[in-house]
Amino acid sequence: EQDVAVYRARREITVEGHDVPRPIQMFHEANFPDYCLEVISRLGFVEPTPIQSQGWPMALKGRDLIGIAETGSGKTLAYLLPALVHVSAQPRLEQGDGPIVLVLAPTRELAVQIQEEAVKFGSRASIRSTCIYGGAPKGPQIRDLKRGVEIVIATPGRLIDMLEAQHTNLKRVTYLVLDEADRMLDMGFEPQIRKLISQIRPDRQTLYWSATWPKEVETLARQFLRNPYKVIIGSPDL
Ligand code: ADP
Ligand code: MG
Repeated sequence: EQDVAVYRARREITVEGHDVPRPIQMFHEANFPDYCLEVISRLGFVEPTPIQSQGWPMALKGRDLIGIAETGSGKTLAYLLPALVHVSAQPRLEQGDGPIVLVLAPTRELAVQIQEEAVKFGSRASIRSTCIYGGAPKGPQIRDLKRGVEIVIATPGRLIDMLEAQHTNLKRVTYLVLDEADRMLDMGFEPQIRKLISQIRPDRQTLYWSATWPKEVETLARQFLRNPYKVIIGSPDL
């Protein structure tokens, strides 16, 4: 217990919630599949970042999670590797099924970056992902959705279009990520986010990420998360 407190203090990790698991100090402690560890070592990563070190064991418990850490701190893999574990534990997709994991992100650029990480890690396990964003032709996006993908990374507006046209559905989503929640609210996506979440089963796992923690961001989190863990790295601009 003493070591855990020292480790958290040294890495500026603050936690809240019931039954918070210990942070992991080395990659292999998270029990990710070997193919993930191989990619990590190929990328030359030496150790988990603080948000990964504490966020991974939390996310792997299947509980809701609020993660607050500045840009560049490794939040993408903090939710993506547990997402791959989650997908692997679900029955395979059947014809007509929508995604199991949905990641909502504010911009096309960010969605594309997340997708690149998802491909780097997920392709080894044949976990498919696609990106759905506005300002680009719908055809290829519709084709991917119809073929079936375990992971959809989307900006809210275009995803709503796809749902309304019945190119996909959110019935199988059990792992929901809101990435850069603060930016999504700044960009006025709150109504779209509400609309999307209302179509997702309430017993999902929800992971909510932000670089800052203003009142509106907290209010939205409180409405959509159940008994979440919270992990804060450093003292972000509150
Ligand atoms: P954030 O979402 O917090 O802004 P990213 O997930 O985009 O941060 O990660 C920033 C960069 O750090 C990326 O290039 C990513 O590949 C790299 N990265 C992630 N995890 C680690 C790690 N454990 N060690 C070294 N680099 C990492
Ligand atoms: Mg990020």
